[in-house]
Amino acid sequence: MANTDSSTGALPPGISAAQFDQALAKFRALLGPDLVLTDEEQIAPYTKIMVAEETEKHMPGAVVLATTVEQVQGILKICNEFRTPVWPISTGRNFGYGSAAPARAGTIILDLKKMNKIIEVDPVLGTALVEPGVTYQQLHDYLSENNIPLWLSCPAPSAIAGPLGNTVDRGVGYTPYGEHFLMQCGMEVVLADGEVLRTGMGSVPNSNSWQVFKWGYGPYLDGIFTQSNYGVVTKMGMWLMPAPPAYKPFSIRYEKDEDIDLIVETLRPLRIAQVIPNAMVFANVMWEAATIIPRSKYYDGKGVTPDSALEEIKAREGIGAWNVYAALYGTPEQIEVNWAIVKNAVEASGKGRIITQEEAGDTEPFKYRAALMKGDMTLQEFGLYRWRGGGGSMWFAPVSVAKGSETVAQMNLAKAILNEHGLDYVAEFIVGMRDLHHVVDVLFDRSDPEETQRAHACFSKLLTEFGKRGYAVYRVNTAFMDQAADLYGPTKRAIDQKIKRALDPNGILAPGKSGIDI
Ligand code: ADP
Repeated sequence: MANTDSSTGALPPGISAAQFDQALAKFRALLGPDLVLTDEEQIAPYTKIMVAEETEKHMPGAVVLATTVEQVQGILKICNEFRTPVWPISTGRNFGYGSAAPARAGTIILDLKKMNKIIEVDPVLGTALVEPGVTYQQLHDYLSENNIPLWLSCPAPSAIAGPLGNTVDRGVGYTPYGEHFLMQCGMEVVLADGEVLRTGMGSVPNSNSWQVFKWGYGPYLDGIFTQSNYGVVTKMGMWLMPAPPAYKPFSIRYEKDEDIDLIVETLRPLRIAQVIPNAMVFANVMWEAATIIPRSKYYDGKGVTPDSALEEIKAREGIGAWNVYAALYGTPEQIEVNWAIVKNAVEASGKGRIITQEEAGDTEPFKYRAALMKGDMTLQEFGLYRWRGGGGSMWFAPVSVAKGSETVAQMNLAKAILNEHGLDYVAEFIVGMRDLHHVVDVLFDRSDPEETQRAHACFSKLLTEFGKRGYAVYRVNTAFMDQAADLYGPTKRAIDQKIKRALDPNGILAPGKSGIDI
């Protein structure tokens, strides 16, 4: 690890230790010494990655914490002067996608967690304007303390993650508002040159419609500040769902792996017609099991979990090969009508056992799924990390059309590649408006260098083989950003780079993010 006089972090490429020390001195003068972290113990929490690469490859140069927009502007000015790159994070819980660490060693982390004001919630319009450090738990508490009947939509690590970071990385949740970027409205962005842009209606002096009309006038810009490195987002508007008078979560259990085809064909029409309005989930046996038990309860050997163990888990833990979680929302009368439609569709398909909340009672995993589908806080899904243990996790999330035939082909391909590398197929499908996010958790023992190498090779092969068949991921961890960007072809990459050069000519913002650099 390259050290400077005043930081134990890594040096950014092309920067001398003396230059780096000068930049750090300027950061200290701007922010005060407490907001510039350079000691090993201070940096350590930011280096806890789960991806299959050495920690050193993602070692930050230092960490700077901003508390105001003016400080963010000041930080970027220093970065331009000394060519020291920064990696902005909001709550920094991007587990399985790189956690808080940068794509490249030596990048300084710009931690925005101290900018954590809930600036406004409009209970009538169901809108909120938040700063980067606001967590879902904080917003959840704010709504309940103020008796505001609005629901959140959050990803599985809900409580500790935050809406701004999750949305700018185009994360998804499980409620009818589960496509988070669709429900985002208006941003404030500090550009690399220090300019502050408010998108959409936010550019209009005295406008009060920043959080209600997404598009503004002229080219729509919010999209270029998601999954990118073109600016630091310092405020974000979002829409919140009115709490419905009634809520009915349910599960449907299917016995065979191949049933996934029928599941999609049965439920897609209900999703598109908004009878089932939420981003429902189809979780496979291992995903279900991992959220409630460690693998060692049924198998404590190495390599792939044997089918015999999976059959035992299904029988003894009451888990299906595929487990659907969906919900109905509305007045009791609306729910009654829609419930009849759902039941008829499942019965007509000839397969699937419906489980209601009354039947499931207080048991997991139904309980945490019911919480997620109403935007409640739960950390139950962290059980996935106990499945094999050892702290390795990378999400492989190819997108496909919501057709049954696609799912079987994708399932078989993913399983074959994972098993060939001694790893398990732990997967769920999240149903979007017309698409499926096929989310596979590539779990491995990161404390074992040989298994880590295998997981790396496995992930690379997953990207390549899916790519050959026209499937690409919607988001990826910091170790594979270039490879994922290649799947989208040279024209897209060239345009990403042209925009980068125009907005950030010194390349100081998050080099390597989504495969983009100057
Ligand atoms: P969460 O904790 O909600 O998962 P993070 O804070 O880890 O979200 O953010 C996820 C990713 O999004 C980061 O790694 C970074 O690439 C990007 N990001 C987060 N916050 C910002 C921001 N304020 N401006 C620009 N990009 C951001």
